[in-house]
Amino acid sequence: MKFNTKLLHGKAGRNTLDGATLPGISQVSAFYYDSAEHLEKVFGNKAPGFAYTRIGNPTVAAFEQRINEVEGGTGAVACASGMAAITVALLNVLSAGDEIIAGSGLFGGTIDLFKDLEAFGITTHFIPHITVEDIKPVLNQNIKAVFGEIIGNPGLDVVNIKEVSDFLHENGVPFIVDATTATPYLINALAAGADIVIHSSSKYINGSGNAISGIIVDGGKFQWDKERYPAMKEYSKYGKFAYTARLRNDVWRNMGGCLAPMNAYLNILGLETLGIRMKALCNNALTLAKTLEKLPGITVNYPGLESSPYKTLVDEQFGGLGGAILTIRAGSRENAFKLINSLKYALIATNIGDLRTLVIHPASTIYLHSTQEEQEHAGVYDDTIRISVGLEDVEDLIEDFTQAVKNI
Ligand SMILES: *Cc1c(COP(=O)(O)O)cnc(C)c1O
Repeated sequence: MKFNTKLLHGKAGRNTLDGATLPGISQVSAFYYDSAEHLEKVFGNKAPGFAYTRIGNPTVAAFEQRINEVEGGTGAVACASGMAAITVALLNVLSAGDEIIAGSGLFGGTIDLFKDLEAFGITTHFIPHITVEDIKPVLNQNIKAVFGEIIGNPGLDVVNIKEVSDFLHENGVPFIVDATTATPYLINALAAGADIVIHSSSKYINGSGNAISGIIVDGGKFQWDKERYPAMKEYSKYGKFAYTARLRNDVWRNMGGCLAPMNAYLNILGLETLGIRMKALCNNALTLAKTLEKLPGITVNYPGLESSPYKTLVDEQFGGLGGAILTIRAGSRENAFKLINSLKYALIATNIGDLRTLVIHPASTIYLHSTQEEQEHAGVYDDTIRISVGLEDVEDLIEDFTQAVKNI
């Protein structure tokens, strides 16, 4: 099955008991059983079933299974948000004294999270780009994970997953990727070599901007050495399911960032149209970027443009689609604000992956808590505008952005 067919006819979508085309919404907290013995078995993983929604829920499980099938993982665990997913994905394997390497062009919330982890003895080395060249000089025995966004938001640098993961595996380090902006439509990150894939499914997977959520998918191939990862010691008996087993039985369930059943259902609806939406969104983004690039007074950053250093990688890795986000620089903060305020269709909002085109001035919003140096490393300048391109007719977007640019 190809991508869109699998979304609609994959095995994971065919497991409803009553033949319903979509799972029901199990909007409950708890599940009862006919005897104390039965509930004991469910609690001890000796009988199938659900006990309490924080630990498992049929609608959430249906969402997890669908994503897991699309990504080709050994298990997927859904979370209340993308940030909850990133947090537990890391805490699942890290201990005090461990170090992480991360790209500088990351989502602002993730950069803030890495600072929070310092209180728990986990330190992060930020490097300009997730490349073998940049990783090599900072690699040491304490580095227990490398974290990168496949297409940085909003830096828009693109990671060569195969090259980086090959190098990391030679050094016994797992590659954890945030695939939010690339989505499984542009790249199967596990097949390309990544070990753990995380999505803020609030964005393109949900697709309509109607629910916050996150998901972690394990490829099951990384060998968690018991000495280097003491947290994984007890779970190594689960083999390729070890990482997911620890999440489910330990960190994820105990930190409590579970996904609500209703939101899981909304994500399943979104997931089914991910392929057609991404294709249309990426085509709109490329057409808009090409048009804006010709206008005087602004510069455009989009990985799919001929002028981008990532164009070859976009062609090789993503089949030519460069994602649906672009940034423009308007010359000054004043110009950036004026441009934003002149737009008729694009909504001024802090989100990506909506059906509607959204714009934001990152320096004064998402990166408010970052230093100027951190902002610039993330590709955020005082005159930067991020555009999350939507599904409007591209002629209307071109007309709208062109008049706004002329206005400055
Ligand atoms: C939005 C986003 C997150 C955080 O996800 P939430 O669902 O908002 O918690 C993480 N990474 C990237 C790349 C994002 O765009």
